[in-house]
Amino acid sequence: MKFLSTWVLYAYANAQALQAMLACNPKYIIATLAAFMLGVGVGALAIANLGSDPPKLPVLMVYESLQTPLDLIPQGLALEQQPLRLYRKDLTRSSDTTESLFRRMGLIDPAAAAFIRQTPTLRQALLNQAGRTLSVQANEQQHLLKLTTRWLNNENDTHYQRLVITRQEYGFSYLTDAAPLIANVRTSGGAVASSLYAAADEARVPDSVTQQLVEVFSGQIDFHRALRKGAIFTVVYETSEAEGEPLRAGRILSAEFINGPKTYNAVWFQEPGKKGGYFTLEGQSLRRAYLASPMPYSRRTSGFGMREHPIFHTQRAHLGVDYAAPTGAPVVTVGDGIVEHVGFQNDFGNMVVVKHSALHSTVYAHLSRIHVRKGQAVRQGDSVGAVGETGLATGPHLHFEFRVNGRHVDPMTLALQAEATPVSAQARAQFNQSAALARSQFASAAQMRQRTFN
Ligand SMILES: [Zn+2]
Repeated sequence: MKFLSTWVLYAYANAQALQAMLACNPKYIIATLAAFMLGVGVGALAIANLGSDPPKLPVLMVYESLQTPLDLIPQGLALEQQPLRLYRKDLTRSSDTTESLFRRMGLIDPAAAAFIRQTPTLRQALLNQAGRTLSVQANEQQHLLKLTTRWLNNENDTHYQRLVITRQEYGFSYLTDAAPLIANVRTSGGAVASSLYAAADEARVPDSVTQQLVEVFSGQIDFHRALRKGAIFTVVYETSEAEGEPLRAGRILSAEFINGPKTYNAVWFQEPGKKGGYFTLEGQSLRRAYLASPMPYSRRTSGFGMREHPIFHTQRAHLGVDYAAPTGAPVVTVGDGIVEHVGFQNDFGNMVVVKHSALHSTVYAHLSRIHVRKGQAVRQGDSVGAVGETGLATGPHLHFEFRVNGRHVDPMTLALQAEATPVSAQARAQFNQSAALARSQFASAAQMRQRTFN
């Protein structure tokens, strides 16, 4: 049973979803109910493995004595008496043919494949479509019993589309319909082995959520320089789901990042009548005057670390931080300001200097392209140019300096010193409730991690 060896546990918020899942996969019941009772409550928890060796992936088996809803147990036992059923879940791919789809889903069924190929609606729904959820039931002979696929036609849809193919006594039938999406909340997490993106993939965290996670902590963590191997993240986010399958991810509600000795956390909070934002659990805004890094941490740039400056290092103290990155990678201003200088200097190549205050300025050098003009006002996160190797550079990288009164200081120190606005006194009680909820979610996630690895 493929699903029993997976380390992803799904817990469902409402009994309906639980029943639905039980009906389609009785083998799930023990793990599902266990997770449900653990107090994760809403959402799913996925924990990435710490090791890098795939065959040694930890298997998460949770055995608990449970006070389960009484009618679920006999139902589950009755379903266990049925002949063996094989269940698979996956996503469709843009390159899919019936052959590749059936191979991936473990189906050997020429009649079912022919039925799909000969029916335009089925061909259109299943072949050459990227990212649609797919679940398949098969018998011991690997014949298709039931196939379900769900998708959204548009990003803002309130209803999802569903297509179900069912084996009948003589041949196959299919039906299509639409049903409302259910709002839910998911908890996922993982441990970083190589990059945050790889860990997020393993935990099945959607890219939009990983990007938000990086943004939420962009004033606290320089993901290029400071991310440690083994760093642990937990993220709680909104989803729109169809029968327990998340079809769309929404906003991060809370997040925790344990990086070496430091723990960072964030909770979304919106004061009545104000714009919402992220706060520490103590109620300090996470929005700061300066970003921790001038290089947005993306899937593309996540594999590159800081490197030593190959040239100046031997000649004089190297003043600044170098980010190795592919030519063309975006470079952004770490704070609001006015572009003070744009041009070419022998050593620095194409460079931009942004003045943030009477004392503070930042330098971006070796650029391949410059996107700003002298005198232009820029906001934190605006692009000032792209990584290059102009000037005295042996490879593409960004040379970055944070100057206070003309002298370079460690940008990280400055980013952290910047003042943070706290939650207002009137909203404090309401904020404390959000923070308490986030705390309990992080505690549940920590408990799940311990159960997985101990
Ligand atoms: Zn440098």
